[in-house]
Amino acid sequence: MSAFSEERVLSVHHWTDRLFTFTTTRDQALRFSNGHFTMIGLKVNDKPLLRAYSIVSPNYEENLEFLSIKVEEGPLTSRLQHIQVGDTVIVGRKPTGTLLIDYTLPGKRLYLFGTGTGLAPFMSVIRDPETYEKFEKVVLVHGVRQVDELAYHDVLVDHLPNHELLGEMIEKQLIYYPTVTREEFRNMGRITELIETNKLTDDLGLPDLNPGEDRVMLCGSPGLLVDMKEILERRGFREGNTSTPGDYVVERAFADK
Ligand SMILES: Cc1cc2nc3c(=O)[nH]c(=O)nc-3n(C[C@H](O)[C@H](O)[C@H](O)COP(=O)(O)OP(=O)(O)OC[C@H]3O[C@@H](n4cnc5c(N)ncnc54)[C@H](O)[C@@H]3O)c2cc1C
Repeated sequence: MSAFSEERVLSVHHWTDRLFTFTTTRDQALRFSNGHFTMIGLKVNDKPLLRAYSIVSPNYEENLEFLSIKVEEGPLTSRLQHIQVGDTVIVGRKPTGTLLIDYTLPGKRLYLFGTGTGLAPFMSVIRDPETYEKFEKVVLVHGVRQVDELAYHDVLVDHLPNHELLGEMIEKQLIYYPTVTREEFRNMGRITELIETNKLTDDLGLPDLNPGEDRVMLCGSPGLLVDMKEILERRGFREGNTSTPGDYVVERAFADK
């Protein structure tokens, strides 16, 4: 069997001129855990051009959903941004990654810190009922530069609390904290500053971030991850991985050139 399946694009939604979402059919045999990423792409000159993408849709859904950046000169996204309903996208059959609740130790609260497209894996983690069985509270912090980059804001604020099956858990246990750095908004500032100053936890009426009670997942730019790791390690958090669970786990939202 080939390492990839060819899936049909079912919908495309452009959030901004830099960000879009699309859904595809899903090979019935594709198995993944919420928080995983897989390789996806397009055939260019008959060869697959692939990049890592987090899976936005939870693993029980019939279709797949992805959130994508548009990089002007990017080999894949300069093309992928033009996909239309009915086009074909290649999807890898071996999803993987570290942003799984299984790789975090038990705790009281789970903090999900994502910047930009780093929100993507958390959209599936927060729609997994097991997340709410394992943690009393789940705090989703999404950092962006501009308000219109808050992809899924309305889904998170309006739709998910009314979700037929998960609504009650989400209403009681999920806290969504969007924050913007370059425009006026109800929450402002970089995630690192919000943690260092304890503004985030003060705003939410929660104890300061601590390894005794809190677990953390990070998905952002390589620079953000370096800074966040330093902050967390200073507070006594230990990193987990696919073989040893820890207080926090990390995935890059993209790789630097
Ligand atoms: C584990 C992992 C998961 C990923 N998940 C996603 C995802 O869910 N959605 C997504 O859009 N991308 C994701 N990426 C990045 C993705 O693999 C590609 O880099 C991206 O699609 C751009 O591809 P490209 O060929 O157009 O440009 P590339 O040559 O791959 O990238 C060119 C440059 O664009 C910038 N860049 C790339 N991706 C991003 C991004 N997401 N946000 C901001 N700047 C970026 C970087 O500076 C990079 O050096 C992920 C990367 C990794 C390693």
